[in-house]
Amino acid sequence: MSKLVDRYGRVAKKLRLSVTDRCNFRCNFCMPKEPVWIPRDEVLSFEELARVVKILASMGVSRVRLTGGEPLVRRGVEKLVKAIASIPGIEEITMTTNGFHLKSFANALAEAGLRGVTVSLHSLKPERFEEIVGVRGVFDKVVEGIAAARDVGLRVKINAVVVKGCNDDELFDFAELSRRTGITVKFIEFMPFDGERLWNIERVVRASEILEILSTRYQLYPKPREHGSTTRYYGFKDSQVGEIGLVSSISEPFCSDCDRVRVKADGKLVPCMFSRDEYDLKPLLRSGAPDEEISEFIKWAFSRKFRGVETLLKTGELPQHIRPMHTLGG
Ligand code: SAM
Ligand code: SF4
Repeated sequence: MSKLVDRYGRVAKKLRLSVTDRCNFRCNFCMPKEPVWIPRDEVLSFEELARVVKILASMGVSRVRLTGGEPLVRRGVEKLVKAIASIPGIEEITMTTNGFHLKSFANALAEAGLRGVTVSLHSLKPERFEEIVGVRGVFDKVVEGIAAARDVGLRVKINAVVVKGCNDDELFDFAELSRRTGITVKFIEFMPFDGERLWNIERVVRASEILEILSTRYQLYPKPREHGSTTRYYGFKDSQVGEIGLVSSISEPFCSDCDRVRVKADGKLVPCMFSRDEYDLKPLLRSGAPDEEISEFIKWAFSRKFRGVETLLKTGELPQHIRPMHTLGG
């Protein structure tokens, strides 16, 4: 098997596959007020998406995370999960979801082979949550979705994007939730990919600050960082139950061992989310090109992967607003 490797020697193992750019929520750090959707005929079919995964799996990609937009608004997505689960070389499929439709789909997703879900829950205060996601009356549905996913045996984590002055007063509440339920809570640094271009470095709460705040109440210990992970996990010294994850995409992005590749719903391969470079697989997929030709193109595209933002961070030249997050999937 020839691996998918870039010119800095980084090898792709994980795929973030965006199955749609559409969403039933309007999170203020993600969607523009007037989103421009990918035209329907440009969105890859399930067959095309599964073929891309098969080709990537033949080059060593073994873990797939479905994302969006909101993956559960794409009708029949559990069929895609099943198709991907049967691809040789794929060891794990997970999903990042806003959780609204999770209660209805949890069972079908688990049966189709999904291993886990990460549910985005940015506040434990219903009103504030609904303000952030731009839709009223949805908090309870998301919480019910989390419970349903646990009931069917899916591994469940929570993502909370922390924005200064918005929800950074809830860190202890989230930590208590984790200690009570055992659900891992991941705090994500606000990234400059919001649709309304409101991002500002002043609104980022750095992972190190979050750790400092939590350490005033808890004795936390770091767990070993998995190769390629942007998340540092911490356990509580006084409790076996609960885990905190800190996603330091801005303050410490770990570009040097990044092992991810992304594919958007329109078939554009994105080797690095901090770069504008995209490589369109759709013309090849739709012109009858054989797998070998597509995999050669992918290898060429991935070899050109952007070095990353670690050095740029030191000079304060962080790339911003490249594409709104709902078009890529995080
Ligand atoms: N709709 C799903 C959801 O919200 O979980 C999946 C797609 S969403 C784009 C993937 C993840 O990116 C979510 O956890 C979301 O909160 C996060 N996200 C969106 N915009 C972000 C931003 N500007 N900075 C950091 N994370 C962001
Ligand atoms: Fe939709 Fe997820 Fe973006 Fe919120 S973060 S608008 S739920 S895609």
